[in-house]
Amino acid sequence: MENRVYNFAAGPSMLADEVLLAIKEELFNYHGSGMSVMEMSHRSKGYLEIFEKTKNGLKKLMNIPDDYEILFMHGGATGMFASIPLNLTKGKTADYIITGNFSKKAADEAKKYGDVHTAYDGKENNYTHIPDENELSFSADPAYIHLCANNTIYGTEWKSFPVNHKATLIADMSSDILSKPVNVSDFGLIYAGAQKNMGIAGIAVAIIRKDLIEEADVKVPSIMNYALELKHDSMLNTPATYPIYVLGKVVDWLEELGGLAEIEKRNIEKAKILYDYLDASKFYKSFAEKESRSLMNVTFSCGDPDLDAAFAAKAAENGLCNLKGHRLVGGLRASIYNAMPKAGVEKLIEFMDDFAREN
Ligand SMILES: *Cc1c(COP(=O)(O)O)cnc(C)c1O
Repeated sequence: MENRVYNFAAGPSMLADEVLLAIKEELFNYHGSGMSVMEMSHRSKGYLEIFEKTKNGLKKLMNIPDDYEILFMHGGATGMFASIPLNLTKGKTADYIITGNFSKKAADEAKKYGDVHTAYDGKENNYTHIPDENELSFSADPAYIHLCANNTIYGTEWKSFPVNHKATLIADMSSDILSKPVNVSDFGLIYAGAQKNMGIAGIAVAIIRKDLIEEADVKVPSIMNYALELKHDSMLNTPATYPIYVLGKVVDWLEELGGLAEIEKRNIEKAKILYDYLDASKFYKSFAEKESRSLMNVTFSCGDPDLDAAFAAKAAENGLCNLKGHRLVGGLRASIYNAMPKAGVEKLIEFMDDFAREN
């Protein structure tokens, strides 16, 4: 464990020590097979056991109802931006709630394939705000309503989801999935790139209600066709075998720790000490509106780009890495996903206090 830093990167991001150690333990010789999981055929008995265990573990951890399917898709969350309209609009208009960069990207991708209605756009408040129900205006009969549950770049997060609508809700949960319990039945589709809170880059996990999966248009690329992927149990071609295995380890870790209610408790505690510090400080400013703040990505600034740069550089020298904010927002960002221990946040606050005093 020596020489490990606290990695505040937005993604790919920190993994829990327990997860890395479990992987290390099995790296050269998985359960007496004489090979690494990386070297296994996706059709082998050994790998299929890992695959099923990962799926069942995730189902249990998230309390996913039986009428939902889990698909492991290629192309990350960005691949999902394209496959969602291709599979699910069926010629109808799709509604998009724009609360940041990624929801905008999702909408722009959907516009290539059909009609998109913008139900809300937070551009005017510089994406510091998550809308209330009365700020949303949906189209008459949308195929679905798409939102981004946590805005990784801007540091805002939905605390509760829209209910005044009759459409299917779809959520990009790339940066807050597994951070707290969610009621899966509120959504037709939940998806996430794995590299923030579910492990490592290489897969998007899609949790989709079965009745939404119909025979898609033949023009939908096979690799993005939900019906085909379901038919082949996410093995239409070689799946991203290792990221699926790592996801299984992350699920095991969270289960052992007490499940999503327990990790939520820890995440609230972690974020609270950092936001409390920011609110009390005259030196730092936090970016997101108070009611809309994310528990996963904390965006703030010293109020001066040169100072922000100096902060990030000096923090890195002190083992607090990747605190530079996204170029769209500037400033600083501390991504404190599940794997970031409270001690990391405490060390960050200590550093912030020293830096403020020196400057
Ligand atoms: C990181 C991220 C994405 C993009 O994920 P990729 O897997 O790189 O395509 C999309 N949405 C959100 C909310 C993200 O945080």
